Amino acid sequence: MSAFIASSVLARSTANPRASSVPTRVASTTGTRAFAKCHGADSLSARDALGGSSRVPSRTSTPARSTARFGVNALDAAMPFDNEARAAKRLRKLKIGIVGFGNFGQFLAKRFIDNDHAVIATSRGDYSDAAKKMGARYFPDPDDFCEQHPDVVIFATSILSTEATINSFPVQRLRRNTLVADVLSVKQFPKQLFLQRLPDDFDIVCLHPMFGPDSGKGTWKNLPLVYDKVRIGEEQPRRERVDNLLGIFEDEGCRMVEMSCEEHDRQAASSQFITHTVGRMLGSMELEDTTINTKGYESLLNLVNNTSNDSFDLYYGLFMYNKNATQELNRLELAFSQVKAQLFDRLHTLIRDDIFDIDGSSPEQLKAAWEKAGETMNERGYKERLIDQVNSTGVIGGSRDEPDRKGANSEAPSR
Ligand code: NAP
Repeated sequence: MSAFIASSVLARSTANPRASSVPTRVASTTGTRAFAKCHGADSLSARDALGGSSRVPSRTSTPARSTARFGVNALDAAMPFDNEARAAKRLRKLKIGIVGFGNFGQFLAKRFIDNDHAVIATSRGDYSDAAKKMGARYFPDPDDFCEQHPDVVIFATSILSTEATINSFPVQRLRRNTLVADVLSVKQFPKQLFLQRLPDDFDIVCLHPMFGPDSGKGTWKNLPLVYDKVRIGEEQPRRERVDNLLGIFEDEGCRMVEMSCEEHDRQAASSQFITHTVGRMLGSMELEDTTINTKGYESLLNLVNNTSNDSFDLYYGLFMYNKNATQELNRLELAFSQVKAQLFDRLHTLIRDDIFDIDGSSPEQLKAAWEKAGETMNERGYKERLIDQVNSTGVIGGSRDEPDRKGANSEAPSR
């Protein structure tokens, strides 16, 4: 921050004569890039950056000194610069290792590289070319990967394969105190796995970027990043390292949500799992673009788009590894049946009217005829019979010529 201000002031001092009335002194040369990235250096004038000249301890400048170099005083005391320390911390470049270099692993890697961090990767398949293209280094052998001693290792493996991957992962080759993270879409499961399988001196943070390569294609502004600092050592560098990692998402504009893994799974079952389920259901209906798309319909098509590219493994993982998912699926099914029942109950009334209008046979007459034919049915059974007729004949009231399907015979009134 200090250096940013200094360089900004220096740059403008010759161009802007007013700047000479703001005497400044260069305080430091670190933090420039990070601060400039966070705050958009180009758009700030020296005066703006300093929060107005009233905040700058002014020294009277004499005409003889008007071409002198400028400096900034008392920056540390200035309230508007709260971001300085954070920006400086984030300047540290992380070496981030990604395990599982599929769809999502690559999506994250690109953004980390855009943020000037170094990325190394390993996966089951060979992703050397893809890694090279984006500026990452790829190690097919996990031993070689670990021996690169990344600061952070992020598991971006499928939910289903994570346990087996961790079990065979050569963690002993990593540096002690390595920070291990995951980005699985379920959270309790990797948390427990990490706590059981990782050495005690490893730090653990569980992450869930609640967006994917489609929904997070452009900006990440306001997209939620859920995190749980499961186990972070007390030492300052370890706390800074995890903040540094989280800072990448924060700087990208994510909405940072600190939440326990357990609470995440509870909430995600009724939001994310249901979203994916409905997206998949609609996807299998092969909805098409129409010339009269409403906004509501557009959002359904978007939902299909945002979920259809995700692997079935991912979807199955959401179900299998979140204990709350079954209950939500049952609730969805029940809700669908209730809505359908509402429709069909209303349909019954329409059928009744229609029958009555067509040939004057009231439903009561119809019922009486069926009963006479040997079938006793209660009101509910009667409704179901009518609905059955509609379903099988496609005609409200059924076919006039067709005898009753369930055996009501010639004695049933002709309709
Ligand atoms: P995915 O199908 O869930 O996972 C694909 C990754 O898992 C690939 O890197 C693949 O490695 C690896 N993998 C699959 N089976 C494996 C096995 N038997 N052994 C070792 N590795 C195996 O698809 P994804 O979209 O890339 O998701 C990755 C992770 O990110 C998942 O945990 C998911 O829940 C999470 N996530 C995804 C999204 C999203 O929108 N896609 C959003 C947030 C979080 P190879 O390619 O080398 O086979």
